[in-house]
Amino acid sequence: MLPFIRSDLARLAAYTPHPEAAQGSTPLHTAQELDRLDTNENPFDLPSELKQKLAWTYQEMIEANRYPDGGYTALKQAIAAYVNESAGLSGFDATHISVGNGSDELIRSLLIATCLQGQGSILVAQPTFSMYAILAQTLGIAVLSLGRSETDFEMDLVAAQAAIEPGVPGQGSSSVPPVRVVFVTHPNSPTGNCLTAAEQSWLESLPPQVLVVVDEAYFEFSQTTLVGEVLQRPNWIVLRTFSKAFRLAAYRVGYCLAHPELVATLEKVRLPYNLPAFSQAAAHVALHHRHGLLKVIPEILAERTRLISALVQEPKLQVWPSAANFVYLRLRGSTPVEMAHFAQALKAQGTSLRQTGGGLRLTVGSQAENTRSLQRIQSVLAHRSTSVST
Ligand code: PMP
Repeated sequence: MLPFIRSDLARLAAYTPHPEAAQGSTPLHTAQELDRLDTNENPFDLPSELKQKLAWTYQEMIEANRYPDGGYTALKQAIAAYVNESAGLSGFDATHISVGNGSDELIRSLLIATCLQGQGSILVAQPTFSMYAILAQTLGIAVLSLGRSETDFEMDLVAAQAAIEPGVPGQGSSSVPPVRVVFVTHPNSPTGNCLTAAEQSWLESLPPQVLVVVDEAYFEFSQTTLVGEVLQRPNWIVLRTFSKAFRLAAYRVGYCLAHPELVATLEKVRLPYNLPAFSQAAAHVALHHRHGLLKVIPEILAERTRLISALVQEPKLQVWPSAANFVYLRLRGSTPVEMAHFAQALKAQGTSLRQTGGGLRLTVGSQAENTRSLQRIQSVLAHRSTSVST
């Protein structure tokens, strides 16, 4: 390792999402042949009329030699209108919103704004979205991890309370700073469960010096939101993204809703011009055409039901309900290595899913992708039982 690099970074690996299928890194046919059900994207691309509209915007409206609008006021206003409309509220305006290069960027800005310089650590219940801990570690921020119920994945609230109480060994000591941020995902990834009433009331009971981050990346699928809490509680923030239901994963647009003072702080720590002009244009177009774009959600939810109904028929699989556009499953009585073999065998047949959090997460794809993937799962499971019994 080069001698000037922070020694704690040697232990970390770079995040590599579906490397073989990443756009532009391999011949396109590789990506097209594989049913990519490992990153929870919407299976449907933007309709070509909207791509044409964006191409026109690119041609006629964007001056490539100029920096983009770096204040994002128009985009924030459009996002506020959407959030108010979808939650039946009227209280949000541009001052409650910060936008990021994906919500990943906002997670990093939040960590910088709250915990850096040894001022705080973060609390997460595992399994959950991996980037909270990964980004914290890259910044040298301590991560306290809790477990969850094995049946419904509710977080261990006794351990959670103990972790934030002062005087608990390790808390606020010189080695581990006090918990400043609790990250929850609603619904959770990879397990698909929404926050329970008990979890919500625990979050509501947290003191004002602890920030509650509710990541609603899958809101459009769950139609369950805690965004109204943000208007009542200065220590709550909701994260959202255009990468999932809105079909804009390629453009990297995320946003958050928070108290204007927290938003002003996030604006201080972000990079200038963090959202390219083209990404801003794409988010505008997606919001403008939201009713058409989100029309496919019932179809995706119906496919989720179909997938779960078929998967629960497999005695070798344990399958959980889901409020999002993915399904969490485990191979009964299998080790992580056996699950990795299962995932590899499935990929060899043409479906990639993600092994994470002690199980497997399968994104709900298009009807054709799901049908093919179900057949492949059944075939790999059948082959597995044959090889075990012989
Ligand atoms: N939060 C959760 C729970 C996610 O699953 C993801 C994407 N996998 C993100 C945030 C990040 O999304 P974005 O593409 O906006 O960075």
